[in-house]
Amino acid sequence: MNQRISKNKNCQAYHVHMKGRVQGVGFRPFVYNLAKSLHLAGYVFNRPDGVIAHIEGNAKDCDAFLHLIRTKAPPAANIKDTIYHSTGTKNFHDFKIIPSRQSDRIITEISPDISVCNDCLKEMYSENRRNHYPFINCTNCGPRFTIVDDFPYDRVNTTMNEFTMCRNCMPEFDDPLDRRFHAQPISCPDCGPVYEYFLKGKRYTNFEKLIKTIGEEINKGKVVAMKGLGGYNLSCDATNAKAVEELRTFKIREKKPFAIMFRSIETVKEICNISVAEEEILISWRRPIVIIDQMMENTLASNITSGLNSVGVFLPYLPLHYLLFDQLDSNAIVLTSGNESDIPILCKEKKALEAFQKISGGILINNRKIARRADDSVVKMISEHPRILRRARGYTPEPIDLGFDASGILAVGAELSNCFCIGKEQQAILSQHIGDLKNMETYDFFCENIAEFSRLYRFQPHQIACDLHPDYLSSQYAQESNLPLIRVQHHHAHITAVMAEYKIKEPVIGISYDGVGYGTDGNIWGSEALIADYNEFNRISHFEYVPLPGGDLATKQPWRSGLSYLYHTFGINCKNLDIPFLTTIGIKKTNQLIEAIDHSVNSPLCCSAGRLFDAIAAILGICHQSNYHAEAPLRLENYLTHYTNESYTFSGDRIISCNGMIQEIVKDIQKCKPLELIVTKFHNTVASIAMHQVHLARKESKINKVVLSGGTFQNKYVTEKIVPLLRKNQYNVYYPQEVPCNDGGIALGQLAVAANKRK
Ligand code: ZN
Ligand code: ZN
Ligand code: FE
Repeated sequence: MNQRISKNKNCQAYHVHMKGRVQGVGFRPFVYNLAKSLHLAGYVFNRPDGVIAHIEGNAKDCDAFLHLIRTKAPPAANIKDTIYHSTGTKNFHDFKIIPSRQSDRIITEISPDISVCNDCLKEMYSENRRNHYPFINCTNCGPRFTIVDDFPYDRVNTTMNEFTMCRNCMPEFDDPLDRRFHAQPISCPDCGPVYEYFLKGKRYTNFEKLIKTIGEEINKGKVVAMKGLGGYNLSCDATNAKAVEELRTFKIREKKPFAIMFRSIETVKEICNISVAEEEILISWRRPIVIIDQMMENTLASNITSGLNSVGVFLPYLPLHYLLFDQLDSNAIVLTSGNESDIPILCKEKKALEAFQKISGGILINNRKIARRADDSVVKMISEHPRILRRARGYTPEPIDLGFDASGILAVGAELSNCFCIGKEQQAILSQHIGDLKNMETYDFFCENIAEFSRLYRFQPHQIACDLHPDYLSSQYAQESNLPLIRVQHHHAHITAVMAEYKIKEPVIGISYDGVGYGTDGNIWGSEALIADYNEFNRISHFEYVPLPGGDLATKQPWRSGLSYLYHTFGINCKNLDIPFLTTIGIKKTNQLIEAIDHSVNSPLCCSAGRLFDAIAAILGICHQSNYHAEAPLRLENYLTHYTNESYTFSGDRIISCNGMIQEIVKDIQKCKPLELIVTKFHNTVASIAMHQVHLARKESKINKVVLSGGTFQNKYVTEKIVPLLRKNQYNVYYPQEVPCNDGGIALGQLAVAANKRK
């Protein structure tokens, strides 16, 4: 069948090296099929640094091949570089996929996990041996990051290693024309992993029976623990308030909103007005949770969002989810990580069976090991682009190309929403979202995961970067490592992370509005206008310092910030202000707090934008106590329904005073102006202050590039107000997209600073 192509006078041969995300995404089969269709001979194989091919045949066909590998690659592939050179023909008769070679220490990318594809779904619902098979996958879809034990991505290096392919699966795996050709996690009901379900002392092993029972339990309002892709999940009917309550009690999660998995995109549209772009992300192979701003009609249980208008929604991504929905009456389920709040997602069977004993709807396990945890990722559309707020499943471990060398640097990140980052040559590899490093469980996960990334990526740190804050567990880890240490100021890292994402080399104006970050003067920063490059920064402007009585406690009790701002503005007369806020606090607490401020008892100075949002939410009576991180600013966003361009007064340049605004807000409260109006004016004021700071920085530096980052920019309204204003004033605006603007992006900024200081 195959002619001796090389006898042809026109015959040419090429050595081709493809780099990027080319393993575990169906790339070799794609190359194989492409070569065959063009009548080329040769071979293709995986190497740790990419995919290597030798092609020979007609010159025209070789050219077509080199063009088409870039334009027709499988959906989840991402070719960053194709290097090829002509070489001698070797008289091949056929095209072959040959075994992987484990050679040098250079590593190519591991693919993120890919949601089940449409071809597999179609097959799962048709009559064949994989009918209703919950582990169905193919060359184009299935688990990746969460099953990879080592490089290169071959079955022996995954947790599927324990399952021997049966005689039906083997030929599919070997057949280049099969859509499971070299699909490493290939399996079927005869040879693959199995689910087991435990309910009230009964053990179910028949899948059809158990999925039906789970469906019945959820329909009855029970909570079920289920092994998912990157860990255990807890699930219940999202329209059943009692079920949601059980889930909240178990998780010790009083009010923080839950993300909701919907049956289909159509059912999402029944309650949310989503944009085309939002729909695109929801149905993409990454399947993140997408935060939708406004619900049209809230048919969900009231305790899901606890009064917020926004909701996190996502679509099924495992075959199991589809099979489960087939059994459900409801179109929406809560699907949340199986853990107590703030503790890493559980991923081991033994622990899960213990931990979920008290869950009313039973526990579903399976015998495919999870190589590493991954939570669901969270994305929000801001300024017309999807912005990552939590980076994990479907995104990790996609590297960020830096354009400078960062080899051997470990950046340990901040404390909240921790994520660390390792430097491999010119790439930064961010870990999956780890969580808040405030308890031993999360800290252990952090340490284990650093060891795990080091092993997987053959990474040996020579240098370590951390936050300036001496008390962060991540900073302590860095200190104890005994490696050369670089401390990076928190807001400098926020800005340099964005510079790294956009490969910006020259100095920028950085606006970092944030919760809290340790400043070089020992005070708490978070309203900074910086002129920054990778090496250093100059602090141009910030909000006036206001004491934060109670320190860390103030982040949980916004009323403390509220009272402190009132005292700062009105002095001792603040006690006599006729506003409901003070009545609620009561004179005793008010006096105590003022005394603490007067005597500087546990009252660090703070200028953070986050605390200003807290203060306003408290003074308006919208949020006195915070049940979860950033509840106060989120509750404020709820009131952004009024349209106005008005704003309040502020004064100062290098130090911005908000006293004028506080006075006017108190007056507006006394005049019983609608909260919607006050809240909108407040947000407009924040945008105006940012503009003022940017103008000041440009005047001093003649710089035109503006970077916006820090947790406050998760606020869609503020960001979408500032961005067009900046553009109108001829600034180039950069806002993070691939990396969170919250503290989940800090590690990348630290890495970039360390790498450039080393130069
Ligand atoms: Zn598939
Ligand atoms: Zn099989
Ligand atoms: Fe921060």
